[in-house]
Amino acid sequence: MKYRHHWLSGDRIDLPTGKVVCVGRNYVEHIHELNNPLPDDPVLFMKPATALVPLEVPFSIPKGRGSVHHETEVALLIDKRLKQASENESIDAIRAFALALDLTLRDVQTQLKAKSLPWETAKAFDGSCPISGFIAKEHFHDLEDISFNLKVNNEMRQKGNSSHMLTSIQGLISYISRHFTLEPGDIILTGTPAGVGPLEKGDQLELSILDRINIQTSCY
Ligand code: ZN
Repeated sequence: MKYRHHWLSGDRIDLPTGKVVCVGRNYVEHIHELNNPLPDDPVLFMKPATALVPLEVPFSIPKGRGSVHHETEVALLIDKRLKQASENESIDAIRAFALALDLTLRDVQTQLKAKSLPWETAKAFDGSCPISGFIAKEHFHDLEDISFNLKVNNEMRQKGNSSHMLTSIQGLISYISRHFTLEPGDIILTGTPAGVGPLEKGDQLELSILDRINIQTSCY
C-alpha cells in the first residue's frame, strides 16, 4: 500500500508525499556514542518518498545486510514552500509533528564512512523511514520542550528532548531551506538522541511523544 500523510486518527492529510530531509549529529550524547566529531553546521542527508511507510502497522527491516539500527526522531510536516527562510517563516511552515524511525544499516554505513563514500544505501532504502500519523502543531506549545522515547520489548532504549538539540527546530528548517527548497508535503527528521541500537525481527516497539501520545508497533 502506498504511503500517504495522515493524522494519528488515520484521516488523510491533503498534502503530497515529498522528500525526507534528515539531520545527522544533532544531539551531543549520540555524537559521542558513535565517536563522531561535533559538526560546525548541521549534517544533512535525504531519503526519497519511497522510504516512507506507516509506523503504526508492523514494518519490515532488511535481512542479510548487517545490523539495522533504530534512530528515534521528531518529524515535522512542512506545508509551505520555503527557500532562504527566516526562523519565523520556518515555524510558520510547520503543519504537524510525528515520530519517525531513521532506520540505518549501521554496518553498511560504517563501511561507507571508512571509504568516505555517501551513505544512501545505508539510509535511504525502501521502508527506511517508518513514520507515525501526524499530531497537529497546536498540541506542541514549546518547540524546545518536546520529550519523546522508544522502548523495545519493554526496555527503554532512547529518551530525548528537543531542548538538547544542537540546532533548534526553527534553526534547522531555516538552514535546510538555504540548501534545498522545501515544498508542501516534505518531511524533516530532526536527529536522534543517544541509545541507538539494533532491531531484530519480532521486536515489539513502543514510541511516545509529549509523554502522552503512545504508538505500539513491531518489526518483521
Ligand atoms: Zn538519524
